[in-house]
Amino acid sequence: MTHEMRRKEKSIPPDEAELILANALVGRLGTSWNDEPYIVPLNFAYDRGKVYFHCANRGKKIEFMLRNPAVCFEVDDFLGIKGSEKPCSLGAYYRSVIAFGNANIIKEAEKKEEALKKIVNKYAKSVKFSIDQDVLDRTEVVEITVEKITGKQSLKIQ
Ligand SMILES: Cc1cc2nc3c(=O)[nH]c(=O)nc-3n(C[C@H](O)[C@H](O)[C@H](O)COP(=O)(O)OP(=O)(O)OC[C@H]3O[C@@H](n4cnc5c(N)ncnc54)[C@H](O)[C@@H]3O)c2cc1C
Repeated sequence: MTHEMRRKEKSIPPDEAELILANALVGRLGTSWNDEPYIVPLNFAYDRGKVYFHCANRGKKIEFMLRNPAVCFEVDDFLGIKGSEKPCSLGAYYRSVIAFGNANIIKEAEKKEEALKKIVNKYAKSVKFSIDQDVLDRTEVVEITVEKITGKQSLKIQ
């Protein structure tokens, strides 16, 4: 099923949406399996159409993803409340982005390390990247290949 955004004037162009995604510090991974939705907050890195995050090799999100690789990944900025004193005229200023794609676990050691490097560089640029082999072996790195990205905003200047 495809749904176009109803409020087209609020839509953010894909290149701008990609920037918002890349700069967000927390993203929410949405998965589903067997009619059960599941969402978790994660740190991550975004680079050229791929979202990368690291996690333990067990747990609900990884089990859901392995069973159903179709996922979405959401980030947002809450920018304040708009409106007058009437409750029905209140609203939010915000920017948010949803990326839709397929998740897979990176198997190749070199690619896995590259992805981890992107995550470390994003959150702790000054930290020199190095990782012990046993830690690398215990860590899973997931790559989401983004197939569609949508952005929506409600800004004061609109
Ligand atoms: C800002 C932030 C950044 C994070 N970054 C990372 C990251 O980079 N990598 C990573 O692996 N994890 C990260 N986490 C933790 C992540 O949200 C999950 O808790 C964790 O990955 C375990 O997920 P799981 O499905 O394996 O949980 P499991 O251990 O399998 O637990 C499953 C059950 O625990 C509950 N649960 C699990 N996680 C949460 C949660 N966050 N909040 C409330 N209930 C929960 C749910 O009810 C779920 O049914 C981050 C959390 C926050 C808030």
